[in-house]
Amino acid sequence: MKPVILLDAGHGGLDFSAKYTTKPSLGKRIEFPDLELHDNGWFYEGVGNRALAWQFASRAINEGFPVSFVMDTVKDTPLYFRTLAANKIYKNHRNSFLISFHSNAGGGKGWEIFTSRGNTKSDILATEIYKATNSRMARVYRTDWSDGDPDKEKNFYILKKTSCPAVLIEHGFFDNRTEVQDLVDMKILSKFSDATWQGVKNYMKRLNIV
Ligand SMILES: [Zn+2]
Repeated sequence: MKPVILLDAGHGGLDFSAKYTTKPSLGKRIEFPDLELHDNGWFYEGVGNRALAWQFASRAINEGFPVSFVMDTVKDTPLYFRTLAANKIYKNHRNSFLISFHSNAGGGKGWEIFTSRGNTKSDILATEIYKATNSRMARVYRTDWSDGDPDKEKNFYILKKTSCPAVLIEHGFFDNRTEVQDLVDMKILSKFSDATWQGVKNYMKRLNIV
């Protein structure tokens, strides 16, 4: 049986009056007044995350794999509901796995991928996505090889509370002037999703899922 690929786009989207639904107090947005981003000079992380997740989903669906979004397209649903949705599907689809799409902030540069702590199938998934992305795209890669693999380990809620293998990708820093422009460039988003999809396919091969 094919896995249902579980997709999470971090934070919220735009509501029906095109207003960003993630609370301003949470950050997750930035303004570069002289750039053309999601809304004039504003970049909304949740909107960018949805663009990445949808691009990825279109590739998976195109090759006959079912996907399920665990977030809401508009609302910034609590992580509890996202993991609940993922765990419900995983119960009946034991080869499923989750990818959470994000971009970063805080004054840095580069791409990185997270798993929860410990050595699990999530590390294999993260390694395959890293390898496929690294071989296709020239970026700064923020890796941690101290445990023998390139992913970073952190107990993010979405990684820790999901019972399936799960990874979280930070596709660059949206508060970095160069990288924020990449994050609204459809050609670059398309390359990211090609690479992630290739990594996922390699993972499924390695684990004899398909
Ligand atoms: Zn985020």
